[in-house]
Amino acid sequence: QKFVYDFTEGNKDLKDLLGGKGANLAEMTNLGLPVPPGFTITTEACKVYLETGSEPASLRDEVSAHLDALERTMGKKLGQADNPLLVSVRSGAKFSMPGMMDTVLNIGLSDASVQGLAAQSGNERFAWDSYRRLIQMFGKTVLGVDGELFEEALDEAKRAKGTVNDLDLDAGDLRGLVETFKGIVAKQTGRDFPQDPREQMDLAIHAVFESWNGDRARLYRRQERIPNDLGTAVNVCSMVFGNLGEDSGTGVAFTRDPASGHQGVYGDYLSNAQGEDVVAGIRNTVPLSELENLDKASYDQLMSIMQTLEEHYRDLCDIEFTIERGKLWMLQTRVGKRTAAAAFRIAVQLVDQGLIDLDEALHRVTGGQLAQLMFPRFDESAKAEKIGWGIAASPGAAVGKAVFDSYTAVKWSRSGEKVILVRRETNPDDLDGMIAAQGILTSRGGKTSHAAVVARGMGKTCVCGAEELEVDTKRRRFTTADGRVVEEGDVISIDGSSGRVYLGEVPVVPSPVVEYFEGTLHAGADEEGGLVQAVHRLMSHADHRRKLRVRANADNAEDAARARRYGAQGIGLCRTEHMFLGEERRRDVERLILADTDEERESALAHLLPLQRADFVELFTAMDGLPVTVRLLDPPLHEFLPNITELSVRVALAEARKDPNENDLRLLQAVHRLHEQNPMLGLRGVRLGLVIPGLFSMQVRAIAEAAAERKLAGGDPRAEIMIPLVGTVQELEIVRDDAEQVLAEVAQRTGVDLRIALGTMIELPRAAVTAGQIAEAAEFFSFGTNDLTQTVWGFSRDDVEASFFTAYLEKGIFGVSPFETIDRDGVGSLVKHAVREGRATRPDLKLGVCGEHGGDPDSVHFFHEAGLDYVSCSPFRIPVARLEAGRAAI
Ligand code: ADP
Ligand code: MG
Ligand code: MG
Repeated sequence: QKFVYDFTEGNKDLKDLLGGKGANLAEMTNLGLPVPPGFTITTEACKVYLETGSEPASLRDEVSAHLDALERTMGKKLGQADNPLLVSVRSGAKFSMPGMMDTVLNIGLSDASVQGLAAQSGNERFAWDSYRRLIQMFGKTVLGVDGELFEEALDEAKRAKGTVNDLDLDAGDLRGLVETFKGIVAKQTGRDFPQDPREQMDLAIHAVFESWNGDRARLYRRQERIPNDLGTAVNVCSMVFGNLGEDSGTGVAFTRDPASGHQGVYGDYLSNAQGEDVVAGIRNTVPLSELENLDKASYDQLMSIMQTLEEHYRDLCDIEFTIERGKLWMLQTRVGKRTAAAAFRIAVQLVDQGLIDLDEALHRVTGGQLAQLMFPRFDESAKAEKIGWGIAASPGAAVGKAVFDSYTAVKWSRSGEKVILVRRETNPDDLDGMIAAQGILTSRGGKTSHAAVVARGMGKTCVCGAEELEVDTKRRRFTTADGRVVEEGDVISIDGSSGRVYLGEVPVVPSPVVEYFEGTLHAGADEEGGLVQAVHRLMSHADHRRKLRVRANADNAEDAARARRYGAQGIGLCRTEHMFLGEERRRDVERLILADTDEERESALAHLLPLQRADFVELFTAMDGLPVTVRLLDPPLHEFLPNITELSVRVALAEARKDPNENDLRLLQAVHRLHEQNPMLGLRGVRLGLVIPGLFSMQVRAIAEAAAERKLAGGDPRAEIMIPLVGTVQELEIVRDDAEQVLAEVAQRTGVDLRIALGTMIELPRAAVTAGQIAEAAEFFSFGTNDLTQTVWGFSRDDVEASFFTAYLEKGIFGVSPFETIDRDGVGSLVKHAVREGRATRPDLKLGVCGEHGGDPDSVHFFHEAGLDYVSCSPFRIPVARLEAGRAAI
């Protein structure tokens, strides 16, 4: 097995083996760019070292052979006393881990060769500066000496000289410093600084191997989800020197601006300096454009190399370079990280330059980046007073008056106030308030708490779990960690992208990308340097490419209209439970639940019918010509009844006053009767329809009559009726028979030909497993992956996120919550099974998905692969789903 590759042997596609740095050094070498010669030890060697504690047996000889070759090329030997070859030993893994691992410069210097370097370069200061750097870096990273000790000694030397600038230290000072440094090494390690150059090199190589498992590197990998078993390569690179005087220096540059994506000259340069000095901020760097004045020839060459690199990599690159006495050397390049806005701009710029095609451009932007571009943001230049911090649950920037209950949120917002709903945690009762509020702030709960999930679904800003805030909803105030009190009505600002909470109004700027989707900004507008145009072009291409249709989860005309503007091709989930809320309807629902006789029940239903019909008429109007899937009532009934504690108190008080309220008493009995230990697994979904006579029929009638009304008015309603929580085909058959009767009846009475498809949700494991049977009675399936995830894992979504998900994520049991991104192996394989069985029974079965996953980038790719017809998601996520569906198809 070959463990060492010369720079001339590798190429950019060998990142697994040579690491990113090594692969790109080889690529640049082969492009004929000025790269100091060297070789790369593979990640395979690192893996052996980390597994066995020693390097592979053949490595030493292989390194010797490559070192010999390098020495021949350079015409000098490593550490040779009169004319030393010096090298750097540099880490470099497959994925860039900036600053996480070790690099040692100037290997090969010793008490003897430092003299040779001085003589050969004619620059004694430079030689001693290089030597002190070696002892410092080697001491710290290879020998494990506390770096502070060297820093202190350096500071002391400068103090003695009466300066703060290391350039003021002359050769004599640096020579003294070398002695001090050597003393530190001897004292701390019990041995002298190694004088044998090969020993220096070997120890440095091992140190780089070991730095793969350093604390910093491990932490970084966990955050970035980089696998732990890749290992790092080691690059041995002959040294070039930026610290040889004013005609030398070192710098970093980008081929275009990584923040904006605009073309231009971006970078920093520091003369008379080595490597780390630029980023360490030791002295002030100058903008790269200054280099043109300092060294025009090198500058011109650098510009031309950057162009070569961009054209070769067909992407933005960042680079590290050094100039040694007017000669330019390239020390690193890679495809550079960039902001979301830059990613979109650069992708289309490269298309226009003819470097990539639209497919490639689409491949290079992500739904996550698009989502970032859609949130309004706080003006970064504004002054703001930070008063707390929580979890960044749903991005955006929201400003409003603090309110502490839903009722006030709704009341104030109706009168035109902007409010932030502040709660310890939210529950379904807070929904009205959450809708009315600009943003939601809670002191309890994580990324998957009720507040977070609902807010994300609505595209509403949310900071949750701000634990240091003491929320007192009774007194309508919260207290910050430092004892400040924020009362109801005080203005606060919350940043759902950073989790920060501010006192007062921080100014926000709207996102031009949203204005574009809303249709208030023309696609041709040159907003933010072409950002809107870039989004427009890539969205159009995604639409052109994608196989998946994208529908919206929406249950009112306003959301439906927005969804349409955002590109929805229908409604995939219209929840009807909101149609049972509100003062008047709530009373009817209570009557329905309390009904003792058929007449009472029918009268309550008859009262609800026209209200629901009107809701559907609005919805069908807004979605005219596009499919609207209406789900019949799903949640447990007690969600519509008053809170048990409040009600008990009311009843008890009334009794104490000897003035019992008959209705309250019956309600309380009903609440007790309907109470369930596991409401999620209780009387809900299709079970309601089977147990409460007339309920589903009323809903079906409202849908059918609304459709008929629209048709008669010349509209094109495309209703579909969906039955939730079906576990067996028998349930579906019963509901279906009833529904067909009602449809036929309405069709006959109105004389309208109603073609309304009846389908079901697949959200229980049994339904997925028996999908072949269920498809006999269903014209379409919509995968309810929220409930399916709950039931497949046996997780209660409302409980597990707060109790143990954090621990699961930390232990790596899953990298991301299965409620956020679909669990392909478990839930996903059930979905695939159901798709197969369902289509076997009914080849034209329509298949979709509704629920949180429909707008999640990774999950959209899965649904594409599974061959679904559409995904459905909240209106705000539609552009993300469109983009990702396009990316999945290329
Ligand atoms: P990192 O991965 O942390 O960027 P590098 O291996 O790139 O570490 O080294 C850091 C810096 O050290 C480089 O940017 C470069 O300026 C300097 N350096 C590394 N090798 C050499 C060399 N052979 N000659 C001159 N400078 C070097
Ligand atoms: Mg580097
Ligand atoms: Mg469900």
